[in-house]
Amino acid sequence: MKKCILCQESEADKTGSHIVPHFLMKRIDNLDGSKGRDKELGFVIGKLDTKSYFGRDILPEKLEEIYGEVNDELIENNNISFIEDYIFCSTCEKNLGDLESQYSLSLKNYSDYDTKYISVDEEGVGFLFWTSILWRLSISNASGITLKPKEEKKLRRILNRYLKDFDLNIIDEDLKNIGYKLLRSPEYKKDKEEASTFLHCSPFNNRPYSIMIDEFILSFYFKTSYLKGMTCTFYGSETLNKIAEYNTPFTKENIYSVKDVELKEIIQKFVNHGASIRMNKYAEILDELHIKLGGKGKMNPVLKQKILINILSSKEPSGVKYTLENVKKVIVQTMMAENNKG
Ligand SMILES: [Zn+2]
Repeated sequence: MKKCILCQESEADKTGSHIVPHFLMKRIDNLDGSKGRDKELGFVIGKLDTKSYFGRDILPEKLEEIYGEVNDELIENNNISFIEDYIFCSTCEKNLGDLESQYSLSLKNYSDYDTKYISVDEEGVGFLFWTSILWRLSISNASGITLKPKEEKKLRRILNRYLKDFDLNIIDEDLKNIGYKLLRSPEYKKDKEEASTFLHCSPFNNRPYSIMIDEFILSFYFKTSYLKGMTCTFYGSETLNKIAEYNTPFTKENIYSVKDVELKEIIQKFVNHGASIRMNKYAEILDELHIKLGGKGKMNPVLKQKILINILSSKEPSGVKYTLENVKKVIVQTMMAENNKG
C-alpha cells in the first residue's frame, strides 16, 4: 500500500478523504441546502464543458430532471469531486478532521459588514485550517491550482509538525514570511434560495494565491513583501482585500466582513469570465471545423452566432446542456438546418 502523503510514514489506508472539508463543500454543492452526506449535486465548470456529479442519496426523480435519462453509464461515470481514496493514513485523517471540527465552530461568529472580527480565539487554528485547504487543493488534480513544489513541501512540513497540538514554534523558519487574508460575506446565502456559491481557484495568481470558497475569499501569501506593490486581480475582490487584516501564523484570525452585494458582484464577474472563455473556445472550435470542411479563414460570423445562441438556448436539462456531446449535436443540427435552407 502507498504511504500517506501527509506524514509520509504510515500506510494510506483511508478512503473517502475530503479535499475540501465536508462542512464547507456541503454549503456549495448540497442539493437545495440540504445537510448531511451523500446529498451532493455539483457541477464542475471546465473550459469546454460542464461535468456534474451527485451523491448516493440524490433521488432518481431529481437525476431525471437534470439528465433526462438515468442509465448505468451515468451512474458508473459519476465521480464525486474532491473526494479521494488512499491518500491519507487514519491518524492524519483524524488530525485533519479535528482541525476542521474546531474551525467549523467559528462560522457562527461574524460582524456587521465593513467591519473586521476575530473568528477563532486560539492562535494558529485558522492558519492551519486554511493551510490545510490550500495544500490539499494543490495535491488534488481536480482543483486547478498547483503550488510550486517548494511551497507545497513547506505546507506539508507545517501540517505534519503542528496538526497534532497546534503548538506553533515561533522560531520555525517555515512559519516566517507566510500569512493570509480572508474576506467573508456571512449573510450572502441567508434567506436567499437562489444565491449560489462556488469553489474556484485561480490557476494564474500566486502573489497571493487566490481561492473563492463558498462565502469566503482566501488570499494566501508565501512572502510578506507581496502585500506591497502590484497584487494579482481576482474578480474585483482585490480592492476589499487591501482593507482586510494580514494574518500570520501567530495572530488570532481576523476576517473582513463584506456586504452580500459585494460578494454577488465578485461571483458575477467570475461567472461572466468563465462564460466568455467558453464562448471563445467554442468559436475557435467552429473556425477549425470550418477549415476542416474545406473553408478558408473563419466561419461566417452569422452562422457562428446562430450556433452559439442555439447552444445557450438548448432545451436540454441542465446536466446535459453544456456537455461536449450536446454542444456537438447542436453544432451539427444548426449547420444542417442552414445547409437545407441554402
Ligand atoms: Zn499520515
